[in-house]
Order: sequence, then structure tokens, then C-alpha cells
Amino acid sequence: MTRERFRYSEEVDVDVYKLVDNLRSCLACGKCVGNCPVARLTPSYNSRQIIRDVLSGNSDRWLRSEEIWRCLWCANCYTVCPMDINYPLLMLQLRYKAMESGYGMQYIAPFKKFALRAREDGLTFAPGGEKGRARVMRIRSNIGAVPWPEISDKAKAEYKALFDLCGTTKFVEDLDVENPPPLDLAYRKGRIA
Ligand code: SF4
Ligand code: SF4
Repeated sequence: MTRERFRYSEEVDVDVYKLVDNLRSCLACGKCVGNCPVARLTPSYNSRQIIRDVLSGNSDRWLRSEEIWRCLWCANCYTVCPMDINYPLLMLQLRYKAMESGYGMQYIAPFKKFALRAREDGLTFAPGGEKGRARVMRIRSNIGAVPWPEISDKAKAEYKALFDLCGTTKFVEDLDVENPPPLDLAYRKGRIA
């Protein structure tokens, strides 16, 4: 059976990674919305509506929307979807597309700093500042671990090479996080303060 891919326009293919190619099977049943913690806190957030907009080509709304940055990737929606639609992965794709158009950079700015530092340190997470580091060292010591993981120069070099080889370094460096265009604060205007 040929698996159908979805497009929001002729120019831009949303499903570049071929992760959510069954989106058209959405029944608009709303189970995803009913089980979403973000929708509970933010009445304007509506995964079903976002899917409708993707399918109908209403890209203007979701590209500029602050809502697509609210998803927590908890996957509650995915677990209850009768059609097995991987909405969290759709979110990932929509965010990449928004980033390509310069939107959402206010959310990406901290990640850029974090990723470039991780590339240098060979550690995906290191608490900032002496206080944070001292706390982590204390916790590690209390559970019998070495107070601070020492990363060898060889391991750091390998980590760095992986960043470069897979294109992450260039992707992150090229992100222009300064002065991003403003986002629309409500997916359906007027529904949240
Ligand atoms: S639960 Fe699945 S089928 Fe129902 S609206 Fe959400 S994505 Fe569509
Ligand atoms: S993954 Fe996102 S959209 Fe799905 S239930 Fe969690 S917060 Fe809501």
C-alpha cells in the first residue's frame, strides 16, 4: 500500500522526515485535545485544530503561532489516538518549519547557548555557576559517585566531531536568534488572556 504524505502547500513539505505520514486519517474526534495537559491549562490550545490547519494549508496561522511551542511532548495525545497519529512528532516538524521561517527563536536562544557549550565540554548538561556545580557534586558524592565526571580530551574530541559530522554545529550556529518576528499569542484570538 502506498503511504500518503501530507503537504500544507505545494512548496513546503511538512513531512520531510516521513514521521507522521498518516495525518490524513485524523478523525477529528478530539481525544487528543481531551487528554492534553496544555489544552487543560490553555483553552486556546487545540491539537485537532492545528492538524486541520496543516491539512487545509492554513500554514500562516500555525507558523506564527506561539501555541506550537507550548506542547510538552508528553505523548498523552499519541497514546489515546484511535488512528495512531504521532502528534508529538508532528510538533517537532512544525517547529522546524517555523524555525526555518525565523519564528520561535525566543525559545531556541537558550538551546543554542546550551548546545554550543555542550559541544565544548563533552557534557550534555552542566549546571551553570559555582553554586549549581557544588550542589551537583554534593548529590553525586552522597550516592557514592565521583563528585564530578571527568571527560577525557579524547572523549571531548569525539563528541565535538559527532556534532560537526551530523551537521548539528552548523545548524545551531546558523540559527539567527536575534530580533525574531513576534508570535501570535493565541491560536484562536481572544480565547486566552
Ligand atoms: S485523537 Fe487522533 S484522530 Fe482524534 S483528533 Fe486527535 S489526532 Fe485526530
Ligand atoms: S504531546 Fe503535546 S499535544 Fe500531545 S498531549 Fe502532550 S502536551 Fe498535549
